[in-house]
Amino acid sequence: MAKIYTEKDADLSPLLGKKIAVLGYGSQGRAWALNLRDSGMNIIVGLERKGESWKRAEQDGIFPQLTEDAVREADVIIFLIPDMAQRTVYLEKVKPIMKSGVDLVFAHGFNIHYKLIEPPLTSDVYMIAPKGPGPTVREYYMRGGGVPALVAVHQDVSGSALKKALAIAKGIGATRAGVIETTFKEETETDLIGEQTVLVGGISELLRAAFTNLVELGYQPEVSYFEAINEMKMIVDLIYEKGITGMMTAVSDTAKYGGLTVGKKLIDDNVKRKMREAAQRVRDGSFANEWIEEYNKGMPTMKSMLEDLKNSKEEQVGAALRELALRGKPKS
Ligand code: NDP
Ligand code: MG
Ligand code: MG
Repeated sequence: MAKIYTEKDADLSPLLGKKIAVLGYGSQGRAWALNLRDSGMNIIVGLERKGESWKRAEQDGIFPQLTEDAVREADVIIFLIPDMAQRTVYLEKVKPIMKSGVDLVFAHGFNIHYKLIEPPLTSDVYMIAPKGPGPTVREYYMRGGGVPALVAVHQDVSGSALKKALAIAKGIGATRAGVIETTFKEETETDLIGEQTVLVGGISELLRAAFTNLVELGYQPEVSYFEAINEMKMIVDLIYEKGITGMMTAVSDTAKYGGLTVGKKLIDDNVKRKMREAAQRVRDGSFANEWIEEYNKGMPTMKSMLEDLKNSKEEQVGAALRELALRGKPKS
């Protein structure tokens, strides 16, 4: 059984009075900086350039500094810039400047697990990985709640790395929900396998294939879009709130019978074999190598695939129809 921590298990004190540098002010960076500040922690924000995030931070009443200046003062350094940018920033702006014995903190295990960052043996290294996007981390916190998170410790020099990870989890609101203990390996691998096989990859292509199938059979694209793509939200909301069995109770008996029997035929052993192959490429590091190479080339494959997606029939039809669906959504 997984170890789950809540409010009663966490205490801000191990980090009170410490200078916490949040590097990055994007999706997670903004949410963490504001939540930690509002929880009474001493944060500074470090940025590479006076760009969009710099302006945004100033509008929020946070006065950012250049990365190296924030790092110089910090007792704790939190990496909330894109995973692929972390190694360079670490090598050029963090490692040569940071005080000895600072804590290095991550929101995802990629750089540590795949050894892109090899931290000094004098640092505590730990992770708090929220299981939701940054804006939700901020919104839930402000409404008195929190997004659940995973915590993990990679290096524990002080003996209190887990306590400090829980302090940050509490500071961002995660312990108001629940925090599960994991390892950098488990978090990194499950995150990548999950986003590839289901959340980002599997689901998008399933919806697109379902749309194309209907359109090729001669059904109207608008009707096909509602059926194959748009209605997914209502089904997912039901699963989120009541589980798959609960969702089944909300659909018709005809949908239940057809779904249960045909679903099994679609997601067959062949699909499961391919999921296992994807997982294997994550576990043996070949996906990470492929992605690093793609990133270093300027992401040509990703850019061209995104362009194809944007120009696809389903996205064109969807743009107009989503407005209709949103118009019917109750205001709050
Ligand atoms: P973002 O893409 O939102 O980060 C953007 C921030 O990083 C901005 O402040 C941006 O500054 C800065 N930045 C962009 N490129 C660079 C660069 N090359 N060098 C230095 N700074 C740069 O990141 P996320 O919040 O999505 O991710 C941060 C971490 O959180 C990652 O480890 C990610 O895996 C993890 N995570 C993310 C989740 C999410 O939902 N987004 C969920 C859970 C974990 P500027 O505006 O100047 O470009
Ligand atoms: Mg994830
Ligand atoms: Mg991910």
